[in-house]
Amino acid sequence: MITRDIILFGKPGSGKGTLGKNIIKADTGFLHMSTGDIFRDNMKRETELGLEIIEVMDTGELVNDELTCAIVEDWLEQIDENKYVIYDGFPRTEHQLHWLLVYYHENNRKLPFFVEIDISDEIVIERITQRAIEQDRPEDQKPYIIKQRLNVYDSQTNIIKELIHEYLPPEQIIKLDGTLPMKKVHNSMLQTIERNPIG
Ligand code: AMP
Repeated sequence: MITRDIILFGKPGSGKGTLGKNIIKADTGFLHMSTGDIFRDNMKRETELGLEIIEVMDTGELVNDELTCAIVEDWLEQIDENKYVIYDGFPRTEHQLHWLLVYYHENNRKLPFFVEIDISDEIVIERITQRAIEQDRPEDQKPYIIKQRLNVYDSQTNIIKELIHEYLPPEQIIKLDGTLPMKKVHNSMLQTIERNPIG
């Protein structure tokens, strides 16, 4: 049994979303926090937020940190306290990571597991192209946007992998091979957590 939140971390297309949804299917004690899903939903419904972020989403850049953290905070304020959270696509910058850790500290929440999914750009490009067709994700349909999303990951998000070691003990950081079939990635994560003294 997993008794703390989980940050799923990896490039766009690394399988974070699928892994998150599978964990929730298998364990109903979890809630899925996907900033990307919230932003896409707002764009579809053409809310004020949706209209504000449409250009950013269209270029593969990140929505600004203040807005993103405010969305996450709002969401966290409304959830059932007895459930654990799976973050999928958050935090994505150093600022967001610090914001989240301060929030956890101030709210006496147990620090999450950090699950890092490792995968090459080539496989990610193949997957994103396929997903764009299957899931109607307009921002993923143009090759230059996919490239841009990977550049943004390298320049703003990847750094979190190093920073996280300053905040979490090694047993709370779990590395997974994202090239394996998703079921194997899922099982490997569960096995690592079950063997983990801090579970
Ligand atoms: P995703 O589905 O997680 O790949 O997110 C799709 C798009 O939503 C990203 O390319 C960003 O424009 C925006 N987005 C999602 N999560 C974040 C975040 N944590 N910070 C900033 N922008 C985000």
